[in-house]
Amino acid sequence: MSNKKLVDPRTQPVSRTGVAGPKFSDEDLYSLAERYGTPYFLVDEATLRKKVSEVESAFTDFKGKFRVAYSVKANFNPSVIKTFAGEGIMFDLTATSELHFVLRSGGSPASVMYTSITETEKEYEEVLALGVKKVVVASHNGLLNLTEAAGKTGREVQVMVRVNPEVHVHAELRGSMGHGKFGLQFNGGSEDSAFSVLRRILATPGLKFEGFHFHLGSQIEDPACYAEALERLEAFVLGARRQLGQFEVRTIDIGGGLPVSYGRKVPSPKEMASKIVGQLNSLAESMGGRFTLVAESGRFLTAESTVLVCRVVNIKSFGDAKYVYVDAGYNTLLDSALLRHEYPVEVVPGGRVSPQKTVLAGRLCDPLDVFPTSTRSRLAGAGVGKLVVFRDVGAYSIVMNMPFHSQPRPYVLMRTTQGPVRVIRKGQDVDALFAEEGGDLLAD
Ligand SMILES: *Cc1c(COP(=O)(O)O)cnc(C)c1O
Repeated sequence: MSNKKLVDPRTQPVSRTGVAGPKFSDEDLYSLAERYGTPYFLVDEATLRKKVSEVESAFTDFKGKFRVAYSVKANFNPSVIKTFAGEGIMFDLTATSELHFVLRSGGSPASVMYTSITETEKEYEEVLALGVKKVVVASHNGLLNLTEAAGKTGREVQVMVRVNPEVHVHAELRGSMGHGKFGLQFNGGSEDSAFSVLRRILATPGLKFEGFHFHLGSQIEDPACYAEALERLEAFVLGARRQLGQFEVRTIDIGGGLPVSYGRKVPSPKEMASKIVGQLNSLAESMGGRFTLVAESGRFLTAESTVLVCRVVNIKSFGDAKYVYVDAGYNTLLDSALLRHEYPVEVVPGGRVSPQKTVLAGRLCDPLDVFPTSTRSRLAGAGVGKLVVFRDVGAYSIVMNMPFHSQPRPYVLMRTTQGPVRVIRKGQDVDALFAEEGGDLLAD
């Protein structure tokens, strides 16, 4: 079932919306719908690879080494991880279970930056024993746990310090300003400051200070916050050296946040990078040596690769509006409800534009389950039986699928660079869902 050639990547697309991203022909979308049912996700492998090279080429003017790290939380599908492992990039992980996914999907422990929120001794022991070298700490307690784990496992650790530069970020999801959950303040009286943690790392045998990490947020469309964060980091490093003596900074990781178009105009990685690359080069000079620059990305690397295909199953008129009901809901695209995030949508095949307003409603019995749409969406011609395609859904959606309303998990398919479409996650049927939800434990 999985390897039959269904989609010819050379098929000319029917021109639809102006959005970027892979093109799939109407014919292929319909034949996959017949075969696997709707809704289904369809990932384009070539787009995943193209996104990696877009980020890599964005930083070519940086004079030191540059590495891209994939933030696995955006989409931990093993075939997606394997694709990125094949590109030779790094992985940004937050959980031991993510490490197992990466190692079993072809990634190597040497390519991992482990950035935990929980920072327990047990997890550090596990990741060090599995061969991870680079660990990012973000609390005094976390550093103590890492020190213990390093002692027990006898492994050398390259420790990064996660700072919270407390800069203002214009973005959908902020990780810095007013958000103390992530990272350490530079200074401050407590042991939970970057200065205090750095001093301790430098004084601890078995720990090797590697560099600094910050993560400012997601879908950042204005690079000014990176520039400000780097300025603060530079001042901090120069100040800390005056007090602690010379120490080398081998890596600076500027976190994630590269924006995805979602049908709008947003800066490309090249445009984002061009605003900070000069500063990064002078930072290397002022710190007296080149460092490896790491940029992490989950959203940018995965979003555009994937479409969600669902079917119109009902329609009605209500006042002036036409309600169009599809067989997907926020159980498959959680951020459409959680963040009122708009994915570009199109009806396939489209039809004549009518003056009547179209409301795109999901299949859940919940008033929140109405998809945000705007002029970026093409809803003309929606009728029962037609397909509706949500674009740019590859990040933070498949991983948040849930069975609300007893909805079985949809199929996830991948159009490979060789052409054939493969199943990369099996869909569930109702029997499987019933068993997983406890049906198999019913006493008879
Ligand atoms: C989530 C996360 C990322 C990825 O952010 P994107 O907006 O998807 O690029 C990078 N680094 C850290 C530490 C994260 O938590």
